[in-house]
Amino acid sequence: MNTKCDSSSDVVLIGAGIMSATLGAFLKELQPDWRIQVFERLPEAASESSNAWNNAGTGHSALCELNYTPQQANGQVDVSKAINIMEQFEVSKQFWASLVDAQKLGNPQHFIRSVPHMSVVKGDANVAFLKKRFEALQQYCLFQNMVYSENTRQIAQWVP
Ligand SMILES: Cc1cc2nc3c(=O)[nH]c(=O)nc-3n(C[C@H](O)[C@H](O)[C@H](O)COP(=O)(O)OP(=O)(O)OC[C@H]3O[C@@H](n4cnc5c(N)ncnc54)[C@H](O)[C@@H]3O)c2cc1C
Repeated sequence: MNTKCDSSSDVVLIGAGIMSATLGAFLKELQPDWRIQVFERLPEAASESSNAWNNAGTGHSALCELNYTPQQANGQVDVSKAINIMEQFEVSKQFWASLVDAQKLGNPQHFIRSVPHMSVVKGDANVAFLKKRFEALQQYCLFQNMVYSENTRQIAQWVP
């Protein structure tokens, strides 16, 4: 990271968060000879939103984020945003996997872990919405491993 701009740079990235890191990594793949400078006002990279302990600790696949599947006035659940977000996260994983293959990223277990996602709701209207959401998403292969239950014993096993 720099404090002074060098006029020989091909690209200057302001801020050392995940966006600059990703754009910089893309550019290096496409133009390995380009000189990229990153400017960060804080003492360390990824100290703001991209710090996993601040905000960006969860990779969103739209599995449990209910706000990605709004219910329409006609009662139907719109899953288009959830599909778009799931696809984007899959592309991110492919990108990271390609960097691991190329030995440009270390052991993935050090930066990404898969954990179960779960949505729990209460009340008849919310349960009906969750069921509808589940049924709508089940039609897409990206979401086919989702499971739904109203059985309290089953739920207790999932959330001891
Ligand atoms: C409450 C909240 C919850 C979130 N939850 C999630 C989540 O669960 N999962 C997820 O994936 N994402 C989540 N996000 C979004 C995610 O945190 C951001 O989309 C992502 O971190 C943005 O990355 P960035 O590189 O654009 O910004 P940042 O990580 O904020 O990086 C910007 C950097 O630019 C620096 N900077 C700013 N101005 C200047 C300047 N003039 N000169 C030099 N440096 C400068 C800052 O110091 C900072 O380091 C959440 C965001 C919020 C606010």
